[in-house]
Amino acid sequence: MSTSPPVALTIATSDPSGGAGIQADLKTFSALGAYGTAVLVALTAQNTRGVTGIHVIPSSFITEQIDTLFADVHVDAVKIGMLAESAVIHTVAEALRRHRPGTVVLDPVMVATSGDRLLEKDAVRDLREQLVPMADLLTPNLPEAAALLDEETARTRAEVERQAVGLCALGARRVLLKGGHAEDQDESADLYVDSDTMTWLRVPRVLTTNSHGTGCTLSSAVAALRPQRPDWESAVRDAKAYVTDALAAADTLAVGSGNGPVHH
Ligand code: PLP
Repeated sequence: MSTSPPVALTIATSDPSGGAGIQADLKTFSALGAYGTAVLVALTAQNTRGVTGIHVIPSSFITEQIDTLFADVHVDAVKIGMLAESAVIHTVAEALRRHRPGTVVLDPVMVATSGDRLLEKDAVRDLREQLVPMADLLTPNLPEAAALLDEETARTRAEVERQAVGLCALGARRVLLKGGHAEDQDESADLYVDSDTMTWLRVPRVLTTNSHGTGCTLSSAVAALRPQRPDWESAVRDAKAYVTDALAAADTLAVGSGNGPVHH
């Protein structure tokens, strides 16, 4: 008997250390019952201590990967991750305008926990103009939200709420503004906002330095779960629970000597 799980596509970059990027996305899709497909836009040379190089795939070949996949496979949800530079943003936006996938989760990846830049600074504008308006859900952390709005990083809950609304005004249908970079040591509070709801999602903070791949895992978990849940908010809640469990288990994994991966 054949089965037909939802098909999730990640358009993102390789992390050879396996904790983040395409590798984290495919593990997450599998763990959450989606069939995973992947279009690579760039490769990193990377371990748990940092990124030593980025190699971008030529635009024409990114387009060919997307077109060839969509010509044959019905994609239920797309997650967009690290895009590296403006040319890639334009290429992905152009392809998605033609293929119009039903569900797009955009993780506006800019800087790694290690401090390495994963998106050229002058590409933030292209992300804001080309891809944010296509996002059914935008999942920035606090510094990414501030960069997209060209403002200072939010420090209070009121500022987070104002910035999340500001990101919706840029064209994102919904925003999950992740509070993992906030100074609160007791809880991790993310804000979910759509056209008629504003909900704080709070969980006790998991204290670990092994958090590599947290953001990639969250956005791909929402993409995997949305086709399997009745609404966005329940997909977001269950995705956050999955990431919290992966963080809680992270210290049972010993991979590398730096910021180790979360445990799927
Ligand atoms: N490498 C790749 C390919 C990524 O996509 C990302 C995040 O999106 C990272 C590295 C950084 O991961 P982290 O900041 O969780 O260490």
